[in-house]
Amino acid sequence: MSSVILEARDIRYRYPRGLEAIRGISFHIRKNEKIALVGPNGAGKSTLLTMFNGMTRPDSGLLLFDNQPIRYNSGSLRMLRKRVGFVLQNPDRQIIAPTVYQDVAFGPTNLGLTETEVKAAVTMALGHVGLDGFERRTPHQLSGGEKKRAAIAGVLAMDPDVLVFDEPTSGLDPAGSEDIMELLDELNHDGKTVIISTHDVELAYPWANRAILMAEGKIIREDIPELAFGNPEFVRMAHLSLPMLLELHYELQKRGLPLLGKKPRTVLDMMNNIETMFRESCTNPRPGQITLFNIDRDNRKTLLDWLMAHTSISTGAMGTRAKQQAENDSMRLDFTYGVIDKCILKALRGEDSLILTTESMVERIHQRVDSYRKESGTRISVCLFGSPDAENDGKQP
Ligand code: ADP
Repeated sequence: MSSVILEARDIRYRYPRGLEAIRGISFHIRKNEKIALVGPNGAGKSTLLTMFNGMTRPDSGLLLFDNQPIRYNSGSLRMLRKRVGFVLQNPDRQIIAPTVYQDVAFGPTNLGLTETEVKAAVTMALGHVGLDGFERRTPHQLSGGEKKRAAIAGVLAMDPDVLVFDEPTSGLDPAGSEDIMELLDELNHDGKTVIISTHDVELAYPWANRAILMAEGKIIREDIPELAFGNPEFVRMAHLSLPMLLELHYELQKRGLPLLGKKPRTVLDMMNNIETMFRESCTNPRPGQITLFNIDRDNRKTLLDWLMAHTSISTGAMGTRAKQQAENDSMRLDFTYGVIDKCILKALRGEDSLILTTESMVERIHQRVDSYRKESGTRISVCLFGSPDAENDGKQP
């Protein structure tokens, strides 16, 4: 196993007149890892990243780079920043010189390299990010993706050991995002330790060697992505969602389909699992039923009584008013987005569910369930709250 390059021991940080943004964080990052800090906005990811090159100093605890505590005098910081390159979320804030060449040359020039050495460093860095020939361009002649690459080149020209990216794909279109993630992979293959922050689970899950889930200034879980994202409870605590492939994997398992093989990180993993699974026998339970409670029509008091008698039922709410009513009644909601599909999935596992909704949404729910029936041939019963069907839980023939 490679040696540790960055270590945090119980670090804390509070912004002046602000919240405590980092609340007792400890971790080890090893050389040549690909680390994703994943959490919602405000989790403290950016603040933590700025500590890695000494831009922010913890109020307490210890941060070590290459086994040495980080020191904050200007000489030590200069050395640290040569070894830890930081790519800001917004390249417009990072690119400051009038031309790409001058911008990328800024760091090596400040290191006191000769003109020939600076030129070699710029050529190497621009080549690495695929911007050869862009030397004379001005920043406003660059696309979003090119600006990002130019900012990365500026950091690479210092030949750092660790590259830190705050939200590397923010503002980029899907193709541009894929390009940048591929570039990060290349840099990692070339021996760099790469650390990114993101709130995008689908971006982090297949990319990282290790994911650090963060929320409210703390680490919720750190592990290989299959395990870090593999526990729905931790994912919920970090205010994230399960990666789609993992959700699908669990859904197939819950339906009694014997999914052999590992938790899928990629579509290919998933395909392997599915191919294996089709060789096994499947069980198809009798579908559960979906009950609709129309908050514009049905009686709230009756609902609360009904829920007391159906404690194991899953509940979802569609629409702001329905969610508001559930909150007012302190109702536990299992689903607040993608509600119809989630209830269909429950039904396919033989489980019943209840959707709190408004008059205008009732028809939409019927349409979605009906279109599912047409696609799949499986009929799922949707009944209105208070109707005789709702009382027999769909279990009678
Ligand atoms: P993330 O990168 O996960 O979105 P941040 O590190 O930006 O989170 O923010 C963590 C917390 O610190 C948030 O509550 C945010 O409002 C607060 N914060 C961030 N920057 C400042 C600042 N300059 N002054 C005061 N509070 C800040």
